[in-house]
Formats: sequence, C-alpha cells, structure tokens
Amino acid sequence: MPCEAAARFLILYGSQRGQAQSIAEEICEQAADHGFTADISCLSNQDKYNLDSEIRPVVFVVSTTGDGDPPDTAQKFVRKIKNKSLPHDHLSHLRYALLGLGDTNYANFCNGGKTIDSRLQQLGAKHFYATGHADDGTGLEVVVDPWIEGLWDALKKTFSSMSASDQQDPARSQCTQDNNHKNASGQENKKADLEVDLNLLKLSEVDSQNGKTDSSVARSTSLVASLKQSVSPLSESVLKVPALPPSYLEVVLEEASTEGDAIPSGEDGYREVSISKAVQLTQDDAVKSAILLELDISEQDIAYQPGDSFDILCPNRASEVEELLLRLDLQMQKNYAVQVNLLKNSSKKAAKVPLHIPQNSSLQFILTWCLEIRSVPKKAFVRALADFTRSGSEKRRLLELCSKEGSADYNSFIRDTNICVLDLLQAFPSCLPPLNLLFEHLPKLQPRAYSAASSSLQHPGKVHFVFNVVEFPACPEHPARTGLCTGWLVDHVSSILRPLGTVPASERLGTSALPKVHVRPRPSSTFHLPSDPSVPVVMVGPGTGVAPFIGFLQQREKEHEMNQEATFGEMWLFFGCRHKDKDFLFREELERFAHNGTLSHLIVCFSRDEPDEVGTVNRPTYVQHNLLLHAKNVASILLKNKGCLYVCGDAKNMAKDVNDTLLEIIGNELQLDKLDAMKIVAGLREEKRYLQDIWS
Ligand code: NAP
Repeated sequence: MPCEAAARFLILYGSQRGQAQSIAEEICEQAADHGFTADISCLSNQDKYNLDSEIRPVVFVVSTTGDGDPPDTAQKFVRKIKNKSLPHDHLSHLRYALLGLGDTNYANFCNGGKTIDSRLQQLGAKHFYATGHADDGTGLEVVVDPWIEGLWDALKKTFSSMSASDQQDPARSQCTQDNNHKNASGQENKKADLEVDLNLLKLSEVDSQNGKTDSSVARSTSLVASLKQSVSPLSESVLKVPALPPSYLEVVLEEASTEGDAIPSGEDGYREVSISKAVQLTQDDAVKSAILLELDISEQDIAYQPGDSFDILCPNRASEVEELLLRLDLQMQKNYAVQVNLLKNSSKKAAKVPLHIPQNSSLQFILTWCLEIRSVPKKAFVRALADFTRSGSEKRRLLELCSKEGSADYNSFIRDTNICVLDLLQAFPSCLPPLNLLFEHLPKLQPRAYSAASSSLQHPGKVHFVFNVVEFPACPEHPARTGLCTGWLVDHVSSILRPLGTVPASERLGTSALPKVHVRPRPSSTFHLPSDPSVPVVMVGPGTGVAPFIGFLQQREKEHEMNQEATFGEMWLFFGCRHKDKDFLFREELERFAHNGTLSHLIVCFSRDEPDEVGTVNRPTYVQHNLLLHAKNVASILLKNKGCLYVCGDAKNMAKDVNDTLLEIIGNELQLDKLDAMKIVAGLREEKRYLQDIWS
C-alpha cells in the first residue's frame, strides 16, 4: 500500500432523495477498513473540491431524477463541466469511477450518471474502474454491493500505478517515501487498463443479472415461514455476512414536554390547506376506485401551472405505529420527549443526527411523521437486527438473509415482497432492537407527489388531484395494505367524500370542518404546454395518467375563450380505461372539450369491455393500439409540424409499450430501422418534444 497521503481519494455525490448520499457515505466508511482515507462532499459544495487540479482518484455517486436529469444538487456542477469553451483535455489528469443510480421503470435509465460520465470522458478524464448502473426497480444493492466490493482493488491498482508514474513525474507525487515501484512502466499501466476492462466485464455481468434474481425459490410456504426457513447448511461462522454497521446515535426518552410535535411546514415550503372537495370518479364496481380531491389554496401564496405536481405530506398508519410501539415494548413511553445525540465514541465517520428527526418531539410523532416505517429493510439493517435477536436459530437466519449466500432469499422474501421492519419483527419474535437502530436505519418519510389535474385559470384558488385507491398484500399473513398516502387520504376525507354529481362538502360543511393537508408545489421544468399555442400536441394518458392533461385542456379552453383570434394547434388525447361505464374518468369534461373544439381529437379505448359492446372484434384495447391506428397523424405532428408528445401514467408497462409504438410509427413513416428510429426519438426527447410524467 502506498503511503497514507497517496491512498487518499475523494467521493463526490449528487443525491436527490438521499440514496446516492447514503451510498457515498457507506463507501467513505468502508474506506478505512481497506486502508484508504476518503474525503467526501456533495457535488453542490463546489468550494470544497476542484476537479481542475484534482490529483486524487475521484468516486462519483450520482442519482437520476425527473425525465432522466441529474439531481438538483448536481445541476450546477453539470452546467460547469458542460461549458463549451473547456478544452477537450481539460480533465485529462483526472482518474475517476462512477456509480449511477436509476430506475429501469423510467426512460433514460441512470441518465444523471451517464450525462456526467460521458462529459468527463469528453474532457479527457479516465476511468480507473468501470461505471456501475444500479437499478432501483430491481434493488440498488444488486449492483451497488458488488461494485463497492470491486472498488477497493481498483483503487489499490490505481494508487500503485499512480505512484509508479510519480516516479517518472515527481511533480504529481504527494508521497515522497514510496520507493517500491521503480520498475513501473507503460507495461504496468497496460496491465492496469486490462484489469479495468476485466472489471468492466464483471460489472456488465452484474448489470445483466439485474432483475433476474432467483424467483424460483419455492413460495409454497407462507412468507413468514419462508423468511424463517434457512436454506443453507453453512454454519454462522462460514457465512459471508457484511460487517456490523457501527451505531452512532443515542436516543434518550424523557417524560417531558414535547414541543417538537409540529408537522414540518414553513421553511420546507409546506402549507396547510383545506380539502374542499373529495369526489369518487368511478363506479363502486370498478376495478380500481379513483378519487378527485380539490384543495383550497386561495389563502396561500401558491402558484402552479398545469403539468406541475404537488408534494403531499402523509403520516404512517396509526395502527402500524401502535403495532411497532407494542412490538418494541415502548407503548407506555410513546408520549415521551425524544432527544437524539451522536454517540461520542462511534467509529462511523461523518455521522450526524439525521435532520428529519426533530428534537423534543414525542416518540409517537417521530414514528408517525418522520420515519418511513414501511421501507424495505436494507441488508445493513437486517445485519444490525441480528445482533439484537436472542434466539440462536432466528439470529442465524437473519445473518443468512443479509449474507452473500442468502442473497436470493433476501431478494425473494424481503425486497420483492416489500416487507417492512414490522413484518421482520413479527417473523423473528426474539428480535428486540433498541430505538437508535430504527432511527439509524429507517429513512426519512418522503412526501408523495401528485400531478395537478386542474388549471388555475379555470379554478382560481384551487388545485385538483386524482389518485387510485390501491391495496396490495404486503405479506399473505397480514390483511391487505393500502398505499400509504392514498390509504390515509381516503380515511382522511371520508366525511366529505361523495359520488360524482352530488353537492360538494364545502357547500354543506363550514370551511373549518374540512379536512386539512400539508402540501408544497413541485414545479416541473419541462412538462408544460408549449408556450406557442399553435404548436400541435399529442397527449397519451390512460387511467389516472390523464390527470395533467385535464389541467392542460382546462387551460387551453380558457385561452380559447380569452383570445378567439389566436391560432391554436391541434390537441389529440389518447385515453384508455377498463370499462366505458365504470372508470371513464372525467368523461363529461372530456366530451365537452371535444365538443367545443378545445380537443381536436378524443380517442378512447376500453380494455375490458366485451367486443360486441364496442362494435368491432379487433378493437383497440390499449392507447398504443389507437396510436398505431392514427400513426400518419401522429408522425406528421411530430416530424413535420414540430409538435409535442406527452405521456403520463404507468411507467412499468404502458410507457414502455407506447415508446415501442412510437419507434414503430417513426420507423414505418421514415422507412428506418429500429436503431435509426431510436435516434429520431432521442432527438425528440432532447428537444423536449417527447415528454413523460410516469410513475411506477
Ligand atoms: P392503469 O392501471 O394504467 O390502467 C389504465 C388502462 O391502461 C387500463 O385500461 C389498463 O388495462 C390499461 N393498460 C394496462 N397495461 C397497459 C399497457 N401495457 N399499455 C397501455 N395500457 C395498458 O391506470 P391507473 O390505475 O389509473 O394507473 C395509472 C398510473 O398512472 C399509475 O401508475 C399511477 O401511479 C400513475 N399516475 C398517477 C398520477 C396521479 O397524479 N394520480 C399522475 C400520473 C401518473 P387493463 O388493466 O385491462 O390491462
């Protein structure tokens, strides 16, 4: 190992919701175990690092947000490196590795990292280790864990080759004592390159395995039984278990006043507003029940445009919080004030009290509003839980689940089933973790985002949302769980929920009796109507994916009224639902738009109506079938008339199928093969004329 100074590297992260940051911190922590010293900084702290003169190897961890954009914290950095005046060898001194985070449910997978990676390459920087692309859709750890494992070797080789070349170029050397590499030559560098290539190969294997975890593990037994059932004959001491993450928080409970019990607001941009309407948009026998909420934002300084979203703060379910308190044996202390301190002698580097855990709040408040108690426990959490499990066999199984050997079981029984800490505690009754463990491992309870389904031109002082009430079996032994926010919203608005066409609650109840919610706008940078109203528009939004387009159309309807002389481009809406009479959301309003010319074409399909009800045997069932039927018009809008295509709704299937259909339409129209059609589609994205607002 070269001397300490030479074994120092820099970690830079760009994080949107904290995942890239926590992975970067994990790398930073592990560095010491491998004999390295790591410095760490967020990409936004540009005064803390300077790549122009950086001689340490740099490890980037970068997430992706929005329509494949780098995270907000990396935007400034990206602008800086994208400066066109930079010479092509500007960063030729830089050796780096990059781990990109993304989700294959969305288009432009890992594009945040890819954008930075390709620009660094253009500026002459060199990889010392192959880029990793981790997929949140199938579990980040499938790529992240082996990528970090391979990083240490790659760093060792990089430092060796650096100190070898330092022998030839002392100006680059930070270390004056390392004389062990006198024979280092171009040959060694070639060897290092080859090893990087091998790493690339290994990683592409990891990437290609991604999503193909062993789902064949028998699931005939109940989940709890499977969770507990060991599959490996290996003894505890042979399992390759991750190191126990060091504890760093101390949690003190006191019978004192809990002045911190306030839902985050003000500085976080949240405002408390009334829910003035809650309308059931679907029939009782629809497959999914869709609800429209109207929020009264007239008293607040909140502006939005159709296409923007809103973050809604929602609490964990009271019954689940109670269950957790009971299981942790802390029911009697639930109203105690919580003090969270850093443990003085913790070995965790860069440890800090998480900002999302307020001081002097009650335990119940923290578990209700601050921590995502339904999050899927990561392997490090499972590892830590094992240390607080009395029963030998339970402990052995928890160790197995977080070990290398237990990876398939971890994926099948924990990650893929979306189980949470409560489920684990029920499956392993002798596990009794201290509170600090939960505070260290449970992530921040995130707000849920919903697209505005209205225009403030048509509904001044109001904003509308639509959502489905979905239930999923978390675990076969437990009653079905509703989605966290949607489940809470349904209960929360039960006093004002009414079927379509009846009197709104605000007209029956006084405003003070209306349920309240904390929201903050989340403006979109791209998903808006074109500023020039003559630009034609194609909108594809099946199910609740129609939400933003209702806003677009309300806006356009008003613009028509206000400026009858203006030229308006065609507006096409492709909508799909299951049954014409059960879940045709916004039917009356859409038919009005079509009738008064706001919509030039309303194209609807029903996926589950009997063929004879609709009239044709080979009827279109999905929006993409209708796109194909209207391929000529769609192609002409996009290719000849410089129009825009908007897609909103399910990311997993619909958005992918619509994208494939678009490739087919463009390929047929321009007589191109798939690869060339893909280039045209990439161009449309680049020009912000193919925009997606998709959710998984
Ligand atoms: P959905 O489940 O997407 O179903 C709507 C229609 O699409 C059904 O007729 C369904 O048919 C059909 N469909 C199924 N697979 C399809 C495919 N591969 N291609 C095209 N159509 C397909 O609608 P939803 O339940 O309302 O969900 C919409 C999605 O949009 C959700 O993921 C939601 O999170 C998201 N979203 C919500 C908001 C919001 O603000 N609430 C905004 C944007 C997006 P079958 O079921 O008969 O197969």
